[in-house]
Amino acid sequence: MSEKRTEISSVGEFGLIDRIHAHFPITNANTQKGIGDDAAILRGGDESILVSTDMLLEGVHFDLSYMPLQHLGYKAVAVNVSDIAAMNARPEQIVISLAISNRFSVEAVDALYEGIRAACTNYNIDLVGGDTSASVSGLVISITAIGRAAKEKIATRGGAKANDIICVTGDLGAAYMGLQVLEREKQVFLTNPEMQPDLERYEYLVGRQLKPEARMDIIHELADKNCMPTSMIDISDGLASELLHLSKNSGLGVKIFEEKIPIDNLTYETAIEFKLDPLTCAFNGGEDYELLFTISPADFEKLKNHPDIHFIGHMHDNANQNVMISKQQTVVPISAQGWNHFKGERIE
Ligand code: ADP
Ligand code: MG
Repeated sequence: MSEKRTEISSVGEFGLIDRIHAHFPITNANTQKGIGDDAAILRGGDESILVSTDMLLEGVHFDLSYMPLQHLGYKAVAVNVSDIAAMNARPEQIVISLAISNRFSVEAVDALYEGIRAACTNYNIDLVGGDTSASVSGLVISITAIGRAAKEKIATRGGAKANDIICVTGDLGAAYMGLQVLEREKQVFLTNPEMQPDLERYEYLVGRQLKPEARMDIIHELADKNCMPTSMIDISDGLASELLHLSKNSGLGVKIFEEKIPIDNLTYETAIEFKLDPLTCAFNGGEDYELLFTISPADFEKLKNHPDIHFIGHMHDNANQNVMISKQQTVVPISAQGWNHFKGERIE
């Protein structure tokens, strides 16, 4: 080992993953795709098996002072389901690894698994295993989800073609604003424990933060409409970062229109109240768990009247030009200012 020390913050999360990726070429014929997408793709005859894993750490990803354990259990499953959904596949099994400190009681673990069970029921998933360990520092939940899809139905981050239409489901930035509201109320409570939290007005935002849903409904609808996304990713880190993933993996540029970006009214108003730019919340907030995907223009007719799918722009040939056309018609480059947790800028 050399004496050289490189800070992780200097390469970032994606830089770190790229370094790991570079040293692990695929050697098994049945490994179709390893590191680099929302889930790995394994060959399984006519079908492909999808594998994805996500870890949630107390103090980094969640704060138990406002995250009820049932919600945490549900969310831990939902974020994994979202990664399988993002491959245009169906989740079937999960395994869960848990590290718990003696601060937690059996009843607390029951509450966590109540949420996990609700999610398993809702998404039609079997919990088939895991691992349990003592922890010296809080709660850690790591979930691996296994999914399945016909191999020609798999949507990766890299299949978009020039002129494909960029679609986004739901609305963006709400989960991030929900987090801001929860953090504010926590501070108020810490200063004055007599104060009751004022959350009613922000119910939608707080719900988006504490109870995210993976958009399996969209995956089923796309299948029903016989609409095959040409590329897809889930929005966990924010629209900007995910658009750049589609661009990089598809070798194309993205062009989107500010006026088309779906932001709920309450998200907009609350961002202003917090002196934040609503657009920045949508671009960089993260944890929306909506789907970002591209479709061939030939499929537009099939989706054009869908109430929850928004057409925000298109792919084009110039891979180096990722831009947003603002409401004032100016061209704004898209950059993932990204929330880099190795720089401690955000709990994600
Ligand atoms: P997502 O935001 O969809 O969860 P990530 O950015 O976490 O995706 O991961 C991108 C890719 O890198 C995925 O293929 C994931 O499996 C892989 N990956 C992430 N962390 C590691 C790691 N420590 N070792 C190996 N592969 C990793
Ligand atoms: Mg993902």
